[in-house]
Amino acid sequence: MPELPEVETIARNLRPALVGRKVITAHLLWPRSLETPPPGQFQDRITGQIIRETGRRGKFIILQLSTDYLLIHLRMSGDLRVEPDVGAVAAHDRMVFSLDDGNRLAFNDTRKFGRVWLVEDPACVTGDLGPEPLDEAFNPVVLYQALQARRRQLKPLLLDQTFLAGLGNIYVDESLHRACLHPLTPSQSVTPAQAEALWQGIRETLHEGIRRNGASIDWVYRGGDFQNYFRAYQRTGQPCPQCGTLIERILVGQRGTHYCPDCQPPFGGR
Ligand SMILES: [Zn+2]
Repeated sequence: MPELPEVETIARNLRPALVGRKVITAHLLWPRSLETPPPGQFQDRITGQIIRETGRRGKFIILQLSTDYLLIHLRMSGDLRVEPDVGAVAAHDRMVFSLDDGNRLAFNDTRKFGRVWLVEDPACVTGDLGPEPLDEAFNPVVLYQALQARRRQLKPLLLDQTFLAGLGNIYVDESLHRACLHPLTPSQSVTPAQAEALWQGIRETLHEGIRRNGASIDWVYRGGDFQNYFRAYQRTGQPCPQCGTLIERILVGQRGTHYCPDCQPPFGGR
């Protein structure tokens, strides 16, 4: 599933093609992709609205329109294309928006897990999300206090979108490796210095991911090359770039988790 850097890259890449464009018509080819409003109201409500900005909150793509917001969560296989509005739509296109410049925006989703919302206030969809990890307000002290307030292992806690928005399996494994923290470390045992290392690990990993236009692996997104620079994620049996110890894989809450047993010793290990 695309994570913060991939979604950020998609939103940035859409900007030049979409900002300033007016939606002429909307075709709902698979109505169940639409969470709200009811399909009968969708086309009337979005028609005529101008796309003001493209952005992101957590893993949601947000198109700010004249009066509403269109939120898109790509989930496992969602993809967005802008292309000339001629000819038949592609297989697995779920929604198609005709624009006033002769192009169309197509939401394609093979596995149908992706979702779209048209709402007046994006907070009614994203209101439960935790802080944005790249915001100024998210600093080492805020992270330390949040870790202290929970009693969960770091890996599942960092995957929890209500704790911190935007991270998934890739960026959590990479951030924990940079911070030299074992994925099973209890959050309340993290020291202020470790919290600062984790904060820095998260920021560095996300910034590098964005700089490399995200990672292109097991989903439709094929833009970035961050997958060539992973330190731990999906590198089982390969040497840690820091110490040469072979990266190991364990299951944490059914998620494959990759770490260096030397750089990231078990809690209480040494
Ligand atoms: Zn190592």
